[in-house]
Amino acid sequence: MIHCLHSIRQKSRLRILLRSLCLLMSCLLFMTSCAAASSVGSAPAPTAFAAERTSGVGFYFDTVVTIVLYGAPEGLMDEIWADCAYYENLLSKTIEGSDVDRINHAEGKTITVHPETYEILRRAREVSDASGHAFSVTVAPLTELWDFTGGTERMPTEEELRTSLPLVNDDLMVLGEGNTVTLPAGMKIDLGGIAKGYIADQIAEHIRSRVLGGTLNFGGNVYAVGIKPDASLFRIGIRDPLGAEGESIAVISLSDLSIVTSGIYERFFEKDGIRYHHILNPETGLPSDSDLASATIVSDSSMTADAVATACIVMGKDLALKYLQENGMNGILITRDGKLFTTEGFEDLFPLTVLTSY
Ligand code: ADP
Ligand code: MG
Repeated sequence: MIHCLHSIRQKSRLRILLRSLCLLMSCLLFMTSCAAASSVGSAPAPTAFAAERTSGVGFYFDTVVTIVLYGAPEGLMDEIWADCAYYENLLSKTIEGSDVDRINHAEGKTITVHPETYEILRRAREVSDASGHAFSVTVAPLTELWDFTGGTERMPTEEELRTSLPLVNDDLMVLGEGNTVTLPAGMKIDLGGIAKGYIADQIAEHIRSRVLGGTLNFGGNVYAVGIKPDASLFRIGIRDPLGAEGESIAVISLSDLSIVTSGIYERFFEKDGIRYHHILNPETGLPSDSDLASATIVSDSSMTADAVATACIVMGKDLALKYLQENGMNGILITRDGKLFTTEGFEDLFPLTVLTSY
């Protein structure tokens, strides 16, 4: 086990070293191509740092999406928004005719879904199994009761919870041959805890070879692609769960990786002094009451990071740390009292600056 962690860390270090070399090479290539371009034209000589910055903000998946690109060709931003619209139509629970809508209204019948939807469900199932169902895509009957997106701010009754809980069981979701999905009648899925990660991966892949760098931010699901024009890493803030919106507790520098944070402050309502938040414990039907306020996972798969971050909140600090170490994953867990815990060797892999200590 220790040996395994050691070798994972060594591989990660090697990966970082290789990545840094690649970054340096891309930068040199970029400088050379700029120099070549300037030597034939009459325009002022561009420098390596002249990659134009473009940014855009959209609203998809019930989330503010912020895109920053360096050196993007014309039209790429529009292609990204087209991707977002495509995935929203495929995966939204509330869009009629989406794959998720079709699964949720199949009433026990087997339906064929798009291979991409199938792939998300396959991975969701793996994380569900590995996390003792802390992550469960069949959580939908509960998310409908709590309705955090609709803003009804109403606590479900005990009777409602009792009726819904047996419908939350990922083991009963059958993923069959030919991208088929069968759910027992009455059960429903909600990809809110994993879809944004998958979409971030797909869009990162779409733009990777066409930009110098950029960040894709889907409300806490960030993918940092390539490098910044000054060849530095991207610095991504980790929200302070005890601070105001936009306040960071720490900053991490990375490149060509995704960093995903799930937090109990993202969507919630308060009643009689109690905060009810949107990450639900599939066992109790109630918002997770673990000791964790947020979980941040760094991975080259944003989809895995997304699902695992959600699962960590439900598992709580000790189980989550064990899960991450055993699965060779890197993360930062912040408890409700603001204490920060990292997986072994995290700071050797990723430059981390802690801004606030509680
Ligand atoms: P966010 O959507 O705020 O980025 P998460 O990735 O943690 O945060 O996902 C939370 C969403 O996932 C909820 O809004 C809900 O749709 C769904 N969800 C809630 N609890 C669970 C759970 N235990 N397992 C899987 N999905 C969940
Ligand atoms: Mg998630």
